[in-house]
Amino acid sequence: MRIVAKDLTYTYNPKSPFATQALKGADLVIEEGEFFGIIGHTGSGKSTFVQHLNALIRLTGGSLTVGDYDLSDKKCKFLELRSKVGMVFQYPEYQLFAETVEKDVMFGLKNFCKDMSEEEKQKAVREAIETVDLDYEDVKDRSPFELSGGQKRRAAIAGVIVTKPEVLILDEPAAGLDPLGKQEIMQLLHSIHGGWCKTVIIVSHDMDEIAENCTRAAVFSEGKVVMEGAPAEIFRRSDELIALGLDIPVTAKCARILKERGIEIDTDFTCDDFISKVLALYARSGGVSKADTGVARVENTDAQGGAGDAQ
Ligand code: ADP
Ligand code: MG
Repeated sequence: MRIVAKDLTYTYNPKSPFATQALKGADLVIEEGEFFGIIGHTGSGKSTFVQHLNALIRLTGGSLTVGDYDLSDKKCKFLELRSKVGMVFQYPEYQLFAETVEKDVMFGLKNFCKDMSEEEKQKAVREAIETVDLDYEDVKDRSPFELSGGQKRRAAIAGVIVTKPEVLILDEPAAGLDPLGKQEIMQLLHSIHGGWCKTVIIVSHDMDEIAENCTRAAVFSEGKVVMEGAPAEIFRRSDELIALGLDIPVTAKCARILKERGIEIDTDFTCDDFISKVLALYARSGGVSKADTGVARVENTDAQGGAGDAQ
């Protein structure tokens, strides 16, 4: 399902002294099949925007279509839309509530699958739990509160993907997890992307995550989309991102330091690409004979988020 948003505007608490204009004319097209990133500082309208995509927030200004669903049409089948556009909120584990993991995931299904048999529902729940890489037999009768942080997050995601949404939106899916938990979530998203889940959209403030995982991304600022493109194009404009008060990936930080020293690295800002370009440059500059120590030094400096010694 292709997503086309034109001139979206949205105001919280309109006609009150507390009115906040969260979207001020946001334009964005997300193609089917993308692994799309949404970035921007706090309060730039990211969450308000994504909540429009499955009509959790009703359209009040501008136009929005998601596949064949026209969200400006009052007769739009909103419930059907919601079964196809899954939304994982920030810290979704706070919304786990049932006595068992199985019941929690089943709850995600109940609204949407009134005509499924009990057996089909059971099967869907089992599949969702296994998809998020939890051991069904082990967790089904356990309280979700007994699980580890990363497992809780994945159980909450199971409750959304149980309907096999074509579009899956996740607001800061890896926030607050340890590095392994983050990695597991990103692996999970890649493993479902391209199958029944055609499009993945993540909101993230982690620029490395965007550089490593996304096909394209959009930068929100003050309720508008101010930049969009492949991560390589966006992070090439690091001056503008910094001016907007945003972070940049560690690879972009290294590239900037090298550039100050007269070394230009033409990279897509993934770690693998950046390191291989630096190593190629190192080899060309006659560092081959010291390749072993050279390799170790480049990798170390990158992992520490600075490039002080790389020459
Ligand atoms: P982001 O996700 O980029 O941090 P949001 O979409 O949450 O941005 O918020 C955009 C603006 O709308 C901010 O100024 C925020 O304070 C305001 N806002 C968000 N949610 C609400 C709400 N429920 N009620 C009132 N104002 C809100
Ligand atoms: Mg938000």
